[in-house]
Amino acid sequence: MSWDFSTEPEWQEQLDWIERFCREEIEPFTLAFPYATYSRQHAPKALRDHADGLKQQVKDKGLWGIFLDKEVGGPGFGQVKLALVNEILGRYGAAPAIFGCQAPDTGNMDILAKYGTEDQKERWLKPLFNQEMRSCYSMTEPHGGSDTRNFKTTSVRDGDDYVINGEKWFSSFGKTADIIVVMCNNGMFVVEQGTPGLEFLDGAGIHAHIRYNNVRVPADHLLGGEGQSRELAQHRLSGGRIHHAMRAVAQVKLALDMMCERAISRESRGVQISEHQMVQDAIAESYMQVQMLRLLVLQTAWKIDHIGGLAARADIGACKIMAAKTLRDVVYRAHHIHGALGTTNLTPLQQMWASAPTMSMMDGPDEVHKVVITRELLKQYEPHEGLFPREYLPAKREAARRKFQWLIDSDQEVKDHVAQMDRYASMSEYGRSSAGPGEPRVVSSRTSASSLGPQKGRHPAARRGHGTHDQGSGVPVPGTRMTFQRFRTLVTDTSRASYHRQATALGAACRRKGASWN
Ligand SMILES: Cc1cc2nc3c(=O)[nH]c(=O)nc-3n(C[C@H](O)[C@H](O)[C@H](O)COP(=O)(O)OP(=O)(O)OC[C@H]3O[C@@H](n4cnc5c(N)ncnc54)[C@H](O)[C@@H]3O)c2cc1C
Repeated sequence: MSWDFSTEPEWQEQLDWIERFCREEIEPFTLAFPYATYSRQHAPKALRDHADGLKQQVKDKGLWGIFLDKEVGGPGFGQVKLALVNEILGRYGAAPAIFGCQAPDTGNMDILAKYGTEDQKERWLKPLFNQEMRSCYSMTEPHGGSDTRNFKTTSVRDGDDYVINGEKWFSSFGKTADIIVVMCNNGMFVVEQGTPGLEFLDGAGIHAHIRYNNVRVPADHLLGGEGQSRELAQHRLSGGRIHHAMRAVAQVKLALDMMCERAISRESRGVQISEHQMVQDAIAESYMQVQMLRLLVLQTAWKIDHIGGLAARADIGACKIMAAKTLRDVVYRAHHIHGALGTTNLTPLQQMWASAPTMSMMDGPDEVHKVVITRELLKQYEPHEGLFPREYLPAKREAARRKFQWLIDSDQEVKDHVAQMDRYASMSEYGRSSAGPGEPRVVSSRTSASSLGPQKGRHPAARRGHGTHDQGSGVPVPGTRMTFQRFRTLVTDTSRASYHRQATALGAACRRKGASWN
C-alpha cells in the first residue's frame, strides 16, 4: 500500500534545513537589502557577493535548480519533492532566486531543456541555469492573451534567418533580460537583447510592451520545429502553473499563521477575539481551505511525476484556480482579523491580497482553465441511452429485481415481502412508501394544517391519515414502533421544504417517545 502522506526522514531533514536557511538567512538579507536580489545588476558588489555565498550554500546542499530533471542537468527530484520545497520558499520573496528557480527563467529553461538542440542548451540553458543570464517570455499580445488563435506575431523565413513582426505586452523583465523567448504563430524563437528592430513602448512596470519590427534572427534561434509553438507554450506553462500553486500554499499557510497568532493576542468585549464564534468560523474555514489546496497541489504533483504534465493538465488548471481562490479567501480573513493593521503595508498581508487577482490572471484566466477542466472531464463520460439517465431509479430497481429474481422465486417469505413493498410503492406518488413494510402508517388525520404547512403540499402519507398525534408539538408522531429506517425513508422521500420541517419534528417526537432507532 503506497498511499502515504508522510515525508521520508532524509527529505524532511532537507526541508528543515531549507526552512531554517530561509528564515535565518534569506529573510533578514531581503529585509535589510530589498533590491540586492531583485535587481542584482544595480546592487553593490559586497551584497552581490553575499547573495552568491547564499546560493553556494544551496548548491552545496544539492538543492540548486531543483525543478529540472536529471537528464537536463537538474537533480531530478520530481514534482512532489519540489512542491514540499516550494511550500517553504513561497513565504520568502527572494528565495526562488537564491535557489535558482525563479520565474520566468524556470519556464524558459523547461523549454530549452526539452526542445533545445545541444548548441542551444550550451548557449542559453547553461547560463540561465547558472544565473549568468536572465530571460523573458513574450507571448501575450495587447489585443488578446487568453486565446492564442488571436495572436498575430509571425515569422518569415528569409535565407538563413527568420524575420519576426508583431506586438507583445506583459513580457515580464523584457527590458532587462538577456534573451527574449518570443512566441510566433509559426514557431518559438530566442531573440537576444539588442537585436535591431526590438522597440520598447511604455509598459506596465517590469512587464514590457514590445514591438517586433522586422526583427531578424538566425535560423538556429528557432526552438523545436516550425509550427510547434503552441506545444512548447503548453509545456512551458503547465510547469509554471503548478510552481505558482505550490508557492501559493506557502502564502496561505502564512496568512493562516498570522490569523491564528492575532486571534489569541487581541481582546474585545473582555475575551480574546478567538473566543468569538465568527473569528473561529474564519479560522476553521481557512484551515480547511488551506488543507484542501495543499492536498490538491501535492496530488497533482504526484500525478505529474507518474503520468506526466499533459495527462494531468486538468488538475494543474484546478490547482491554479484554487490557489488564487484560496489566497483570496484566506488572506481576506487574515486581513480582516488584523483590523486596521491588516489594511496597511506594515505586514505582508496587503501585498498577498493584491497578488490574489493577479494569480487568477497570469498564465491564463481562471475561465479558460475551467473550460479545459470541463473538457478533460467530459471526455470520460458517454451520453445515456434513451430518455432517462443511468441513475434513473425505476430502471435501476427493475434491473436489481431481475438480479435477485432467483431469491424471490425460491423463498415464499421474500416473495411476500416483495409483494408488500410493491403495494406500498403503488400507494405513494413518489414511487416509494413512506412507511416500511409491516409498519403502521404514522401520520394523524387530526394533524392541523398549520403544523404541516399548506394542505396542498402535504405528504401523501399525511393525507391518508394513519398513526397518532403528538400533543406537545402538534406534529404527527409514530408509536414506539417507528423505526429509524422509516424515519429515514420519510426524510429521503420528502423533497419539499415543508416536508423536511415535518420530518425533523417527527424525528424529535420519535426520540421523546423512545422509539427504536435501529
Ligand atoms: C503579473 C503578470 C505577469 C505576466 N507575465 C507575462 C509574461 O511574462 N509573458 C506573457 O506573455 N504574458 C504575461 N502575462 C499576461 C497573462 O498571461 C495574460 O494576462 C493572460 O493570459 C490573459 O490575457 P489577457 O490579459 O489578454 O486577457 P483576455 O484574454 O482579454 O481575457 C480577459 C477576460 O476575458 C474573459 N475570457 C477570456 N477568454 C475566455 C474564455 N475562453 N471563457 C470565458 N471567459 C473568457 C475572462 O474573464 C478573462 O479574465 C502576465 C500577466 C500578469 C498579470
